[in-house]
Amino acid sequence: AKRNANEPEFMQAVKEVAETVIPFIEQNKKYQNKMLLERMVEPERVIMFRVTWIDDAGNTQVNRGYRIQMNSAIGPYKGGIRFHPSVNLSILKFLAFEQTFKNSLTTLPMGGGKGGADFDPKGKSDNEIMRFCQSFMTELSKHIGADTDVPAGDIGVGGREVGYMFGQYKRLRNEFTGVLTGKGISFGGSLIRPEATGYGDVYFAQNMLATKGDSFSGKTVVVSGSGNVAQYAIQKATQLGGKVVTASDSSGYIVDADGIDAEKLAYIMEIKNVNYGRISDYVAKYPNAKFVAGKRPWEVKCDIALPCATQNELNGDEAKTLVANGCICVAEGANMPSTPEAIEVFLNAKILFAPGKASNAGGVATSGLEMSQNSLRLSWTSEEVDQRLKDIMANIHAACVKYGTDANGYTDYVKGANVAGFVKVAEAMLAQGIV
Ligand code: NDP
Repeated sequence: AKRNANEPEFMQAVKEVAETVIPFIEQNKKYQNKMLLERMVEPERVIMFRVTWIDDAGNTQVNRGYRIQMNSAIGPYKGGIRFHPSVNLSILKFLAFEQTFKNSLTTLPMGGGKGGADFDPKGKSDNEIMRFCQSFMTELSKHIGADTDVPAGDIGVGGREVGYMFGQYKRLRNEFTGVLTGKGISFGGSLIRPEATGYGDVYFAQNMLATKGDSFSGKTVVVSGSGNVAQYAIQKATQLGGKVVTASDSSGYIVDADGIDAEKLAYIMEIKNVNYGRISDYVAKYPNAKFVAGKRPWEVKCDIALPCATQNELNGDEAKTLVANGCICVAEGANMPSTPEAIEVFLNAKILFAPGKASNAGGVATSGLEMSQNSLRLSWTSEEVDQRLKDIMANIHAACVKYGTDANGYTDYVKGANVAGFVKVAEAMLAQGIV
């Protein structure tokens, strides 16, 4: 703990895992005395580097770039790249640590990693984004590769940024490989990858609801965020018969009591993916909706909540409000959106609660499928990828139930996901010796 004392998000993520995994280790002799968890919290490698670029006004800009190569016990490092001004070592180590368990849960051979930069894409021109991506990749290219470390997108990094980074990698290395996932369809991307995290989150919630004989049909759903994950969570929840009434960004949330249907979602996609604008623009076109500035959507009454924006965006008080309003299911699309206090509220209320490392694993799982297609030099159909995604989410759900269900039949998905994720990585680390 001392070593990482100034890394609060990392400590938070480790504590959550340790609280459930240490009791499991204490009951299972084979995992004892090998410093397994102690080794898992220490990244195999951390790379930090200068990223310099020239803005449109001709000024030199300096940012800091990172890649955390956390754990390669079960496969090449794999995890997204985040461009956001809040990026620092603590945030990326928490994400890389979570990623190791998440990737293990997918059943695919992927280790854990994460990277990014404290670059703020907001308000930057397309040329500035390209120059930044090229400069970032000029250094990162020395440390990654299709069999070494395969980054993907995350906050602030979507198809456009992955494309620019892939182009630069190819130029520097003179090789066309599956070194990044989330690529465009014309150059090795997988169908359903853009949809995968949001869809997977909803599939996971569907599996949880089914344990109670319930479904999305007729349910009111509150979603936070309006980026990649939120957009496709809204789409799938709506397709399954739910009514999604909110979307948000860092400026506030919109509430639309009529529900965000396909047409309205297309407008959100235009605001966010084409114009790089604000969610408040929604009310200009749909005046029945209301924009609530500076707040998060958890005060809106719902049956199901899907936090899909960012870490620590749902606190203990907000969790209490959700439960008091009758919410029966929370499935995290973002990474660690619920604070420890919020998780405690959900578990004490014994509602269905899925931690991101289980319920948002569909994104990286489909990235794994993109890697397979690249290696085979084949493309699977949407239906095929979607079916594999559904199967993977059902398998992750089953693993959580196996390791997280108590004598009274209540499933603690936090415990289930942590222990199931731990077991596979631990087995591989034990077999590979003290490295
Ligand atoms: P995007 O950049 O596409 O969208 C992020 C959304 O979250 C935006 O609406 C953004 O609003 C909002 N947001 C970001 N930071 C903050 C903040 N500090 N406070 C409030 N709102 C904020 O990212 P993604 O949709 O890809 O990622 C969302 C979450 O899902 C992250 O936690 C990510 O790690 C996780 N995730 C993503 C995966 C993927 O495949 N993309 C896979 C697994 C997890 P604004 O526009 O105002 O910044």
